[in-house]
Amino acid sequence: MAMLNWFNNIFSSDIGIDLGTSNTLIYVKGQGIVLSEPSMVAVNQKTGRVVAVGTDAKLMVGRTPAHIEAISPLTGSVISNFEVAEEMLSYFIKRAGDAAKKRLLRPRVVVSVPTGITNVERRAVRDAIKNAGAREVHIVEVPMAAALGIRLPVHDPVGSMIIDIGGGTTDIAVVSLGGIVKSKILPIAGDKLNADIMSYVRDEFKILLGEKTAEDVKIQIGSVQKDGPPKEATIRGRDLVTGLPREVIITDADIREAITHSISILIDSIKEVLESTPPEVVSDVMRRGIVLVGGGSLISGLPELLERELEMPIHLEEEPKTAVIRGAGVILEDLIRYSEILIDNEDELPPR
Ligand code: ADP
Ligand code: MG
Repeated sequence: MAMLNWFNNIFSSDIGIDLGTSNTLIYVKGQGIVLSEPSMVAVNQKTGRVVAVGTDAKLMVGRTPAHIEAISPLTGSVISNFEVAEEMLSYFIKRAGDAAKKRLLRPRVVVSVPTGITNVERRAVRDAIKNAGAREVHIVEVPMAAALGIRLPVHDPVGSMIIDIGGGTTDIAVVSLGGIVKSKILPIAGDKLNADIMSYVRDEFKILLGEKTAEDVKIQIGSVQKDGPPKEATIRGRDLVTGLPREVIITDADIREAITHSISILIDSIKEVLESTPPEVVSDVMRRGIVLVGGGSLISGLPELLERELEMPIHLEEEPKTAVIRGAGVILEDLIRYSEILIDNEDELPPR
């Protein structure tokens, strides 16, 4: 038995991948989360070669010489640059193996995809992971993975609502009895808030802001409702008139004004999903509340605002950025048990 365990540990490699628009996380069976890096690749346009991946590539954003381009291979949670996605995945799988101190040879992969993506988009994920070396690819929908990750009783006849606010998309879903009862995906998430801040600053201050600066200021002083004393930050961008660098002071109130439209679309979308969910399930959700996951849900004041708007309890998951990958981990640790939760069973599992 010990021998068998040892053998399994060295040679079998089952991994989970949360391939997000902003961040990719990898879980190695029996070990846990071993990698979390930005989904970004820097490519030298002259040679076509990859010069940096992940954290190193993100550090280059806005600082690269003209011939080096930082590319996010995902847009709105789907693969938009297949070759770069594949290269990024091979690199991350190798790094995950280094971190786990084992060679991830032809791993079996559980990967999460957003709800409602097309067959073509799903196939792109499967193919990119296979080309990156995987032996089998099993697919789970993001809200289901998140629900498992935060240990919701997904198999029980009781409805739960999960909202995953990522970089590219927000995935709103109601899950019950091991399936997704109702869901909606919208392109309003962290990246859209960054873009909102950039256009607000351009209109109000006539300054062109880098995306990284917009994200930093959002994280630093951003909030969706007034809380505590006013906050401010100094930001630097390029003056639209003179073309020279210029600094201005921006406040939390500015950020709120910049993002208010997006936030109201988010709230309306949640209401829409609730309105189209069967009444019994809605009453479960009203009683048990809604769980927020994903990095975008960390914006200050969001649970309080949603609680007021929706009149039900809102729980911000303690570690919202890892809920989905932890769920992929739960599935990996018992793939047969959770086989019914997987979608798109192209690589078949042995029967239960
Ligand atoms: P994805 O699953 O799309 O890769 P993540 O769940 O990793 O996305 O979340 C990334 C998003 O979360 C980014 O848009 C980032 O700006 C945002 N984010 C991370 N931390 C915070 C924070 N403290 N406040 C507001 N937004 C945040
Ligand atoms: Mg995500």
